[in-house]
Amino acid sequence: MLFPATIAGSLPKPGWLAETEKLWPQWKLEGEALAQAQRDAALVWIKHQEDAGISVVSDGEQFRRHFVHGFLETVQGIDWQLMTRMGIRNNRYEAEVPTVTGPIRRSRPVHREEAAFCRAHATGGLKFTLPGPMTICDTLADAHYGRRADMAMAFAEILNEEALELEAAGVDVIQFDEPAFNVFMDEVNEWGVAALERAARGLKCATAVHICYGYGIKANIDWKGTLGAEWRQYERIFPALNASTIGGVSLECANSHAPMSLIGLLADKQILVGAIDVATDHVETPEEIAAVIAEALKYADAERIQPCTNCGLAPRSRAVAEGKLKALGAGAKLARERFG
Ligand code: ZN
Repeated sequence: MLFPATIAGSLPKPGWLAETEKLWPQWKLEGEALAQAQRDAALVWIKHQEDAGISVVSDGEQFRRHFVHGFLETVQGIDWQLMTRMGIRNNRYEAEVPTVTGPIRRSRPVHREEAAFCRAHATGGLKFTLPGPMTICDTLADAHYGRRADMAMAFAEILNEEALELEAAGVDVIQFDEPAFNVFMDEVNEWGVAALERAARGLKCATAVHICYGYGIKANIDWKGTLGAEWRQYERIFPALNASTIGGVSLECANSHAPMSLIGLLADKQILVGAIDVATDHVETPEEIAAVIAEALKYADAERIQPCTNCGLAPRSRAVAEGKLKALGAGAKLARERFG
């Protein structure tokens, strides 16, 4: 089927599970009650996605508090008592982050049970997202490795262990989230892509990397205002990504100042075209989504285009996210009718 729709990753947590419209929300439950509520929330979102006609669904990250720290909570070598306030994404915003104080080791599978649960309930394609090695390193303080490239490779190894288990649990697409790729373009070429490939080594399922300009929060919107009329960060990293083993690239396209023509640099990749703006409460019309797809078709074959969201919808309201999911599915359908 042409234009299979998917989402970048996160969706809002229901109000009975966690604080709403926050990037680092507090859970409202604990222990087994929390685990049960997380499963319930994932079920709700799988159902909403499938009803909306989304071909490859995700758990909406209902099992993790934040897209980076969720994976790290049980990893050895990280001191969660030693929180460091630091500027992340090249000082775009400050966050309280834990500190790496010893060698990184995965003490147990992190998301395997969650993936198996989603697999048991999703009727079509299932995606699972993991933070990419560079973005992890940009969301932690380092008091052990000394070199970011070395710490990234250590994380890439444990991400690979995790990814292989998710694949074995029946996940169809493993996506690594690397918003830091749009910030540290030299490092992407020096070691970022190599670390990403290490994280994906040996996977036979589909793989993708998500590279956006961030969640629709004020710090990101302010940062975008400083980037000028045309955002050309993608231009500096796409050649290395196109030459990499990663299968697809998830991009921010809707209402973006990144020129769509840059997807021409990804001639060998699946392209997850962001057709839903996550920074506004405006619910797109199917026409608006089809228009983004039409623009992408100028630079890529239809067979390689997957309508997607620009980024996660976690900080938005549940009603807006539900509306945007429906719009995405309807827009993909319209694109099939019009361009199929
Ligand atoms: Zn994103």
